[in-house]
Amino acid sequence: MIDVLVVGGGPVGLATAIRCALAGLSVTVAEPRGTPIDKACGEGVMPAAVRRLAALGVKPDGRPLRGIRYVDERHHADARFRHGDGLGVRRTVLHAALAERAAALGIPVMPTRVTAFARQASHVTAAGIEARYLVAADGLHSTIRRILERRAAIPNRPAAPRYGLRRHYRIAPWTDLVEVHLTAEAEAYVTPVAADLVGIALLLPRPGGDDFEARLSAFPALSRRLAGAACGSDVRGAGPMRQDVWRRVHGRVLLVGDASGYLDALTGEGLSVGLAQAEVLARCLAAGRPGDYERAWRKVSGPAWRMTAGLLWSRNQPLLASRLVPAAHYVPWLFSTVVNHIAQA
Ligand SMILES: Cc1cc2nc3c(=O)[nH]c(=O)nc-3n(C[C@H](O)[C@H](O)[C@H](O)COP(=O)(O)OP(=O)(O)OC[C@H]3O[C@@H](n4cnc5c(N)ncnc54)[C@H](O)[C@@H]3O)c2cc1C
Repeated sequence: MIDVLVVGGGPVGLATAIRCALAGLSVTVAEPRGTPIDKACGEGVMPAAVRRLAALGVKPDGRPLRGIRYVDERHHADARFRHGDGLGVRRTVLHAALAERAAALGIPVMPTRVTAFARQASHVTAAGIEARYLVAADGLHSTIRRILERRAAIPNRPAAPRYGLRRHYRIAPWTDLVEVHLTAEAEAYVTPVAADLVGIALLLPRPGGDDFEARLSAFPALSRRLAGAACGSDVRGAGPMRQDVWRRVHGRVLLVGDASGYLDALTGEGLSVGLAQAEVLARCLAAGRPGDYERAWRKVSGPAWRMTAGLLWSRNQPLLASRLVPAAHYVPWLFSTVVNHIAQA
């Protein structure tokens, strides 16, 4: 019997597996997709996440990010990170770096999609493996969570669902900030990820379909900037983003990363918070105290969740939404405080 079976080998699943291995636990990952895995993401790694990756021994190549810029038709506002740089990094590059570190630690990865598990008093069995704990890191639409919720009959219906779309463009980055372009109902995130590549992630109130250019045309300044640039990737989508989860600990089955609950990508903290959850989860399992994880999860995820909820609420108020960029422009210290709070989440 092994100590931990991690279902899902995305960034948070691999980080959890690495943390468990470093804590002396025997761990296996089940991930059906081959390395490196791509995904719809803004690809802005906040400074706190850069430090958490370094603590795992993971230093992916990317572009240093020095802060955040908010932009609308008439204003812009810049806020610099005060405590170290973030990193713009392609998901494939990030995933390959984490996978390489996991392989160096001898962590086996089974090419398996886990669709069922059986719980006994002393262990969990899934995909033919017996493990003391099963950790579900299988993303927004977690299969493991759905099985658990079906048993607990918990409905998950977000009131105002939002969706993400992303594509890359072959163009030299024009800034070392993450640019956030806002319209009344959508945002476009511009993240430099290589010397000749910029990622664009759109957050929308309805599924984007494949017509990225049509969605991008709602941001005229950005469309003009990208005119003539070749596409650097296919279009990928995600959503609905909001996933309310009532608890993360179900005996020996525990949830982490997007599988453990997600609100929205508008603050770009998903990886940062997921890496923090991986750290506390491994600590709870190594101590043989899985029940402590729920409280630890709330402690590391709560501040980011509340900040995201607040910003999301402002975005949904017609009077406030149009004043966000002017407010950031005219009250720069407040914008800088918010950005640096997010950067350290
Ligand atoms: C549009 C958008 C933009 C974003 N921008 C940013 C950003 O700029 N910065 C940031 O920090 N965060 C951002 N995020 C959030 C970030 O992408 C996620 O928080 C992060 O990917 C979560 O990692 P994860 O490992 O929990 O899940 P995922 O990355 O979704 O990984 C889950 C893995 O589980 C595997 N899996 C699924 N089902 C099974 C199964 N049944 N069995 C085995 N394996 C399974 C999948 O193949 C996948 O590899 C963004 C999200 C979106 C949607």
